Amino acid sequence: MKSVRDVAIAGKRVFIRVDFNVPLDDQGHITDDTRIKAHFPTIRYVLDQKGKVILASHLGRPKGKRVEKYSLKPVSRRLSELLGRPIIFVDDCVGPEAEKAVAAMKEGEIVLLENLRFHAEEEKNDKGFARELARLCDVYVDDAFAVAHRGHASNAGITGYVSECAAGLLLSRELDYLKKATEDPVRPLVAIIGGAKVSDKIGVLEKLTEKVDTLIIGGGMAFTFLRALGHEVGKSLCEQDMLDVARSIMAKAGERHVRLYLPVDCVVAQQASVDAVTKCVTVQEIPKEWMALDIGPASTTLFGEALADARTIVWNGPMGMFELAPFSRGTFGLVTFVASAHALSIVGGGDTDTAVHQAGEAARISYISTGGGAFLEVLEGKTMPAVEALETCGGER
Ligand code: AMP
Repeated sequence: MKSVRDVAIAGKRVFIRVDFNVPLDDQGHITDDTRIKAHFPTIRYVLDQKGKVILASHLGRPKGKRVEKYSLKPVSRRLSELLGRPIIFVDDCVGPEAEKAVAAMKEGEIVLLENLRFHAEEEKNDKGFARELARLCDVYVDDAFAVAHRGHASNAGITGYVSECAAGLLLSRELDYLKKATEDPVRPLVAIIGGAKVSDKIGVLEKLTEKVDTLIIGGGMAFTFLRALGHEVGKSLCEQDMLDVARSIMAKAGERHVRLYLPVDCVVAQQASVDAVTKCVTVQEIPKEWMALDIGPASTTLFGEALADARTIVWNGPMGMFELAPFSRGTFGLVTFVASAHALSIVGGGDTDTAVHQAGEAARISYISTGGGAFLEVLEGKTMPAVEALETCGGER
């Protein structure tokens, strides 16, 4: 796969697929611009090389229609403030207006196209739409790791119609870091998987049992595992139809001598609210009408010990319902252990990223991925359509 550094850029129209899918509040204000800034190395590189920068992204789920609240206009304003230069915003990502704007571009200028997903053809990877996007550029650069697990027109189809394709600096960095965890990692390799459901993460759990030395399972999904071991879990999250899957993952871990850690205690409440009465109990004593919403202090310590000798750590998913303060201690406690470990620590997924930032530990984590679903798919060993498309640039997809 070519990097943007391997391509002649000067004077060329360079279409960069970015991920400006930023979080917005009710008034449509951007609440966090990390995703915008993540692409600055690639954007600046292309500008330094005297290219013309054409940026394209999706935002939210407008489902193929023009939905004003998902317009990229506010992103254009923020981008301009952050870069300290004007951005030419185009009201559509294809068609005469986009073509005219791009044709009038001079070196060093930046065009931001309107939300790709205002066209249903984007997610359908429609060939005609991909060709229209391709018409806007001489060089195609994919920098949007977070959507690389989806084969859409702007990150898969388009590569069939441009002669030069390359990975942007963010995409390359993401893939390089994940490679360090998946291909010949420095061991012991410890994976921490949390979050709500086993069913969302079966593939990754199965794959990890083949690769890791230690697997730590926390969050809501741990209670399906504990139920599978015969514990009563009260009203905790528990997927009855996943009990066999949980048993098979535990059996596989056993066969491969993977050290598997589950919570030994938890914080329980009768409802998931900030003012709920809470208790800390062992996993043998979860009361019938209560639900476990966080791991307890003994589990946090235990998981911390499991991390003590780790040399590589990958983490996705919170240890509890950390959005609510009474159930956030397990996740924040683990953030501190991961940040303090003498290991390469790689964290992915929106919630885990938020927890790391809220805990003020982002600087002590080796790498925070911009991907959630894409991060899991790499850990699962899946080939990502957008990455495959870059590798076969010029062939119709
Ligand atoms: P995921 O998207 O699968 O990583 O799940 C993240 C969500 O899982 C967060 O919104 C958490 O609030 C939720 N979660 C984590 N632990 C629990 C738990 N014990 N009970 C209910 N929800 C949980």
